[in-house]
Amino acid sequence: MNRKIPDVYADYAAITPVNPVISKLMQAVEAKAYGNPSSLHARGLEALGMLKKSRQKIAALLGAQEQEIVFCAGGTESDNLALFGMVRPMLKKKKKVHVIISAIEHHAVLNVAKELQAEGSEISYIAVDEQGLIKAKDVLALIRPHTTLISIIYANNEIGTIEPIAEIAKGLRKINQQRKSSGLPPVLLHTDACQAAGYLDLNVQKLGVDLMTLNGSKIYGPRQFGILFVKRGLILDPIIFGGGQERGLRSGTENVAAAEGFALALEIVQKNRAKEFVRLQKLQQYFLSRLQKEIPGLQLNGPTPGSLRLPNNINISIKGTDGESMVIYLDAAGIRCSTGSACSTAFTEPSHVILAISGQSQEHAKSSLRFSFGQSTTKKEVDYIVSVLKQLTAQILV
Ligand SMILES: *Cc1c(COP(=O)(O)O)cnc(C)c1O
Repeated sequence: MNRKIPDVYADYAAITPVNPVISKLMQAVEAKAYGNPSSLHARGLEALGMLKKSRQKIAALLGAQEQEIVFCAGGTESDNLALFGMVRPMLKKKKKVHVIISAIEHHAVLNVAKELQAEGSEISYIAVDEQGLIKAKDVLALIRPHTTLISIIYANNEIGTIEPIAEIAKGLRKINQQRKSSGLPPVLLHTDACQAAGYLDLNVQKLGVDLMTLNGSKIYGPRQFGILFVKRGLILDPIIFGGGQERGLRSGTENVAAAEGFALALEIVQKNRAKEFVRLQKLQQYFLSRLQKEIPGLQLNGPTPGSLRLPNNINISIKGTDGESMVIYLDAAGIRCSTGSACSTAFTEPSHVILAISGQSQEHAKSSLRFSFGQSTTKKEVDYIVSVLKQLTAQILV
């Protein structure tokens, strides 16, 4: 007889389950408004109307305007559009281009930057401190006359560090004023806010960003659906060509149901974000204090729980263990978590994020384990994770 193994999902940073309210809404929209928004007949107009409504709702939630929201197929595509879209027009004109990104970007930014480098752009990487934190003055110090774009993740997907986006934007505004008087184009700021959306303020005016990436799969919404906020007046090159949808920025028939689902998902997480922050931070602090008391050789990666860390993320390294093996052992006990970032399929590479934290070794990076919590996480589940980790480490570290 099989004893019932628990099923504890602690990988919300990799993907969140779809909120049943949102699946239901999307099903209803699919059944009813199945028309192509570009069609001239009633079915098309109905779909177009729904798309417009979703766009308006999303814009309102972000403090943006309707025409500043570009729908696309997920966070990766949104990041690609932001970086390629801004930089390629300059490269095409054979202009010198310089892009600044942090050393702890998601691969969807990091690998685009590498590609841009191959296409002729200069890239600078901002170093982070021992908490994974970026200093605004370090960013601003890297700006050169031909700097085009800065891209910095709002909250890191592996270690939960919350970066000072608004402070960077404020410093940038001053620099851009000076640049204007010397006839230089402004430096633009993009942020990848996929992980931040459930917990932090996304008002683009308060943040002061020019471009912002969001996706559905991190906010209990549709998969492979996302948006890019593009501040009015900015001119981007598309990366996908075809029928010219999304004002030419993203060709392809729009996903009306996903747009509706995304708008509702964003509304729900933003409405509950303050409450969820407090609830999860309590669990986070409890989890960490138990881990630190009960498991020898354990080190926290990223900031102490508080205002500098997402409330749903705990990333640890346990000396003498291997992260990948731990994930497999924990999975056998019903616990779903990850090492490094789940988004990458290259298994043996140690995390570039942990390595970027000052003073960390390959060994340390390879032993990293990420637990990320969400709407359904309970104290009972956290207790179970601690008990299994204790048993496992006791067995491994004899
Ligand atoms: C998940 C994630 C992405 C990629 O989004 P997809 O929708 O999977 O393409 C990009 N950036 C961050 C910070 C993420 O967490």
